[in-house]
Amino acid sequence: MLLGDICTRACAFCSVKTGKPTWQDADEAHRVAEAIVEMGLSFVVLTSVNRDDLADAGAGAFAESLRELRIRRPDMGVEFLTPDFRKVQSEAADLFTRTLSSLPSNARRDLIWGHNIETVPRLYREARKGAKYERSLRLLKIAAHLPTHLATVEAKSALMLGLGETRDEVIEVLRDLRAVGVQRLSLGQYLRPTLDNLPVARYLHPDEFTEYETIGRELGFTWVKAGPLVRSSYYAEEIQGISHAETDAA
Ligand code: SF4
Repeated sequence: MLLGDICTRACAFCSVKTGKPTWQDADEAHRVAEAIVEMGLSFVVLTSVNRDDLADAGAGAFAESLRELRIRRPDMGVEFLTPDFRKVQSEAADLFTRTLSSLPSNARRDLIWGHNIETVPRLYREARKGAKYERSLRLLKIAAHLPTHLATVEAKSALMLGLGETRDEVIEVLRDLRAVGVQRLSLGQYLRPTLDNLPVARYLHPDEFTEYETIGRELGFTWVKAGPLVRSSYYAEEIQGISHAETDAA
């Protein structure tokens, strides 16, 4: 997780600390890349807290980490799991495109750009304070349409189920995700991390996840993971076009 452990948002399902972060380390990308290489991983998911306090909302930390990683290991599989980048979505996309194009040709490999839509729009006010459903969709549309002549970039999103959403609302979100070009989808059961977080409204039966997986594939998602214990990084290393000797998911 990049950019520290204090988030500028306060999602009611999340137990990450909320506050005014002051931490920013100009050497973070370098050290992150060194650590990943030292651990012998072949695939990593880079994520971060929201940093609405930064002018670039943290996009630079993702871009620089990708660059430092691929310079050391051109074949490193990478997923970005990013915040919504609020007012600087286009700038973040431009930065990622420039970063990919500046890599040596053998390192311009596939990238997954994930952003979790988390829940249905009706529950945003309660569950995702500070976020906007349409803004998240806008970011996913940008992610799904980054220039592909440099590398294949696939957009990915995830929902937690069991927060009080209805089946119809979930299917509507899946349709919205497909409409903006999202290809990869994961669905899992929400579990309350602490008593200060939102309670679980309902535990879904595993068969319901199986049904959502079928619906997702029928809607055209090319990669779907759905199940009670599925989390957004579950089997993230399954990227078409990249073959890994090992499948160390982080
Ligand atoms: S933006 Fe992410 S890290 Fe921050 S509170 Fe929400 S879910 Fe947690």
